[in-house]
Amino acid sequence: MRFSGWKVFTEGLTGNRGWAPHWRDPEPKPEYDIVIIGGGGHGLSTAYYLARDHGLTNVAVLEKGYIGGGNVGRNTTIVRANYFLPGNSEFYSHSLKLWEGLSEDLNYNVMHSQRGLINLFHSDGQRDAFARRGNAMINQGDDAVLLDRDGVRRMLPYLDFDNGRFPIHGGLYHPRGGTARHDAVAWGYARGADRRGVDIIQNCEVTGIDIDGGRVTGVQTSRGPIRAGKVAMVAAGRSGQVAAMAGMRLPVESHVLQAFVTEGLKPVIDHVVSFGMGHFYVSQSDKGGLVFGGDLDFYASYAQRGNLPMAEHVMEAGMTLMPMIGKARVLRSWGGIMDMTPDGSPIIDRTDIDGLYLNCGWCYGGFKAVPASGHCLAHLLATGRPHAAAAGFRLGRFRDGVGLMDEEGTGAQHNLH
Ligand SMILES: Cc1cc2nc3c(=O)[nH]c(=O)nc-3n(C[C@H](O)[C@H](O)[C@H](O)COP(=O)(O)OP(=O)(O)OC[C@H]3O[C@@H](n4cnc5c(N)ncnc54)[C@H](O)[C@@H]3O)c2cc1C
Repeated sequence: MRFSGWKVFTEGLTGNRGWAPHWRDPEPKPEYDIVIIGGGGHGLSTAYYLARDHGLTNVAVLEKGYIGGGNVGRNTTIVRANYFLPGNSEFYSHSLKLWEGLSEDLNYNVMHSQRGLINLFHSDGQRDAFARRGNAMINQGDDAVLLDRDGVRRMLPYLDFDNGRFPIHGGLYHPRGGTARHDAVAWGYARGADRRGVDIIQNCEVTGIDIDGGRVTGVQTSRGPIRAGKVAMVAAGRSGQVAAMAGMRLPVESHVLQAFVTEGLKPVIDHVVSFGMGHFYVSQSDKGGLVFGGDLDFYASYAQRGNLPMAEHVMEAGMTLMPMIGKARVLRSWGGIMDMTPDGSPIIDRTDIDGLYLNCGWCYGGFKAVPASGHCLAHLLATGRPHAAAAGFRLGRFRDGVGLMDEEGTGAQHNLH
């Protein structure tokens, strides 16, 4: 079934009885060429590009819960390509280009909205750093505009420009940055992969990874054993636990990141805005809710829910930047488990075990990476060679120290990235 305006029209006239489920609910087969552990954004996009670009369809995505229940449906939906360092910048640039054609490619409206992202700066030193970042973005082929204080005021008049402690000096504007509807991205990739023959198997937890003579041979699951030629671990916040099934200890710590949404309001925030002196960023959803978030909880955890001190911390920063937000009532908050690496950059690589691949370390920023991550992991799985855009995301950099990509210069402390 293809979606189109005509289909919506005719279904509206005939009682909406012709819609089919977006993907099948297959029983697991005894054997696949490739098994992907984790049905989040990255696992699903990997399956999609394996089928679309490499014709590999004897593939299963095993998800222990339901599609969209992990971080892919818990994030604050920001999509941007404003990275500074080589290694990261070309990857996120590649991802943004894939985002720009994604709805058409998937025949599924992922509501990608390029409403523009503004990172505020509050000191001369920060202005210099953002000017450098903007130039790097332009060199990469992406877009960036350095705004002065009046330029920011024209676009974001509701900010507190009289704040003496955190004066707003300007902002780095990234016009092609924006948001997308997160669960639609999961559903769109799941549907696209399923239509090409991939089995999406929900409620199927991987409980063991079978290895024989240094080579992966399959997985044990809550729905029985499955043999596989290749296995990709794409489990985001649970990556450490999944890799432990193969006897691996990853350079990853899991931390909770919280987000918040207010009641629906009339349109007030047109862009994505990020505070440069506190951990706070905000956008407004199509339903009118102000969607915002801030820093990680400062301890390692698999709890998938946040704590009140961090809620207070985020809201204090929001009140400092835009006091008008205090009038909005918070409807909900939630948490997701972040797979934090010591340099804040991800891993897309093979492991020392033949046939076993790893995709993890997305920290708090893996939603915007979903298209490129799947595209690059599919390339690696199918061809055996890393994709040029992800060549720096090697696991070995944490062993030999070569090629670390510490984007923020915060060093090897997981929870600071
Ligand atoms: C509050 C919050 C805000 C965020 N905001 C942004 C943002 O604005 N922009 C951005 O770019 N990124 C953001 N992120 C980060 C982004 O959401 C994640 O980096 C990204 O979604 C992780 O990849 P994923 O989608 O594959 O993860 P997930 O959706 O978590 O997928 C992993 C899947 O693996 C499954 N799994 C785990 N163990 C097993 C097992 N043993 N067997 C089978 N399945 C298993 C899990 O159930 C899960 O569904 C945010 C995250 C959070 C929590």
